[in-house]
Amino acid sequence: MVSGQRAKRPRLMDFELDEQHSILRQSVRDFAHAEIAPNAQRWDREERFPAELVPKLASMGLLGIRIPEEYGGSGMDTLAYAICVEEIARVDGSMALTVASHNGLGTGHLLAFGSEPQKRKYLPAAASGRWLAAWALTEPGSGSDSAALQMTARRDGDGWLLNGAKAFITQGSVGGFCVVLARTDGSVAKQMGITAFVVEHGTPGFTASKHLLKLGCRSSDTAELAFENVHVADSQRVGEVGRGFGDTMRILDRGRISIGAMALGLGYGALEKATAYAKERRAFGRAIGEFQAIQFMLADAKTELDASALLVQRAAWLADRGEPHSQAAAMAKLFASEAATRACNMAVQVHGGYGYVREFDVERHLRDAKLCEIGEGTSEIQRMVIAKHVLAR
Ligand SMILES: Cc1cc2nc3c(=O)[nH]c(=O)nc-3n(C[C@H](O)[C@H](O)[C@H](O)COP(=O)(O)OP(=O)(O)OC[C@H]3O[C@@H](n4cnc5c(N)ncnc54)[C@H](O)[C@@H]3O)c2cc1C
Repeated sequence: MVSGQRAKRPRLMDFELDEQHSILRQSVRDFAHAEIAPNAQRWDREERFPAELVPKLASMGLLGIRIPEEYGGSGMDTLAYAICVEEIARVDGSMALTVASHNGLGTGHLLAFGSEPQKRKYLPAAASGRWLAAWALTEPGSGSDSAALQMTARRDGDGWLLNGAKAFITQGSVGGFCVVLARTDGSVAKQMGITAFVVEHGTPGFTASKHLLKLGCRSSDTAELAFENVHVADSQRVGEVGRGFGDTMRILDRGRISIGAMALGLGYGALEKATAYAKERRAFGRAIGEFQAIQFMLADAKTELDASALLVQRAAWLADRGEPHSQAAAMAKLFASEAATRACNMAVQVHGGYGYVREFDVERHLRDAKLCEIGEGTSEIQRMVIAKHVLAR
């Protein structure tokens, strides 16, 4: 079911993709090989967000994956979203992160909780690539403990006045709008006093800093945001007052599936390169792939990545059926991201000294994969989510 509509009757989880998802996978793979792979190393070296790719992503439907067609999107389901992110990540973690966060966080929040006028204004602009979306929860003083955020939104006439700072925001400086979480009530439990707003770039008082220099995902845009007496109309509020944190947790549940998919793509990309290298590189008179030590590394990575794929697919399947998927998404993200880091590290080892230099892509995959253990909730936070569900049974 590529269409975003819920299946009418239960079906067994597919271990093989149906025809539509298979076609989608092949077309995104072809696109990534033609448009992203040849440039990814250079973009990473330049630490530059490739704005020139945005119209191409849009024309492939990759900027409105889950946005319904009536708002100019592709109207696909969560499994399709995961496939798109995975296929891009096979060649480039940075662009996979861009596509994952734009679709899952910024536009995902408006799609799930925005008003009809907000959807009509922002979703077509997002799907067409005219405006990339950012989503700002993290602050300099709060990440894992996201409900402790300090940014405030106070009533100001018939609107709101926003003040505060946000940290590590993907598309923070290249985005056209940002969904931002702020505290609207300091007198209630910290999770209950948070509300979301959509703020456009160019709004007086809203500024984005120069992008941050990072270990990996270097050509994705990561910025700090500042809000100084930013006035927004009440029509820019997304969802109900005080419900922003609960809405955010639901957004992260689906977002985590895409970070699991990103990890999967990076891991498979590294495994593919390590396998090719193991067949070609010779030592002691034979291809290194003939040594059992190398074979076992490839075998472990393949096994862990295939297990990750099933966890990602299960979480997407549950999300598409409208069933609770918080625990499944956390398990998919946790397992896939740690498996991907191991697979990329293995690929560097198989390449020996050539794995340590930039000409071969595996060191970039390793740097990019590490982000998957941190973004949208660290591995420790995923374990807390999973344990909460285990103990609740
Ligand atoms: C490249 C990049 C892109 C990002 N994009 C976005 C974005 O678009 N929007 C956004 O809002 N945020 C974004 N983030 C922020 C990201 O979600 C946070 O960095 C992440 O949630 C961790 O928060 P923190 O950095 O404050 O670490 P902290 O919360 O300070 O954690 C530090 C360490 O303590 C551990 N820890 C914390 N609490 C516990 C606990 N209770 N038990 C055990 N261990 C604990 C953590 O697991 C971690 O190991 C991005 C980050 C990066 C690096």
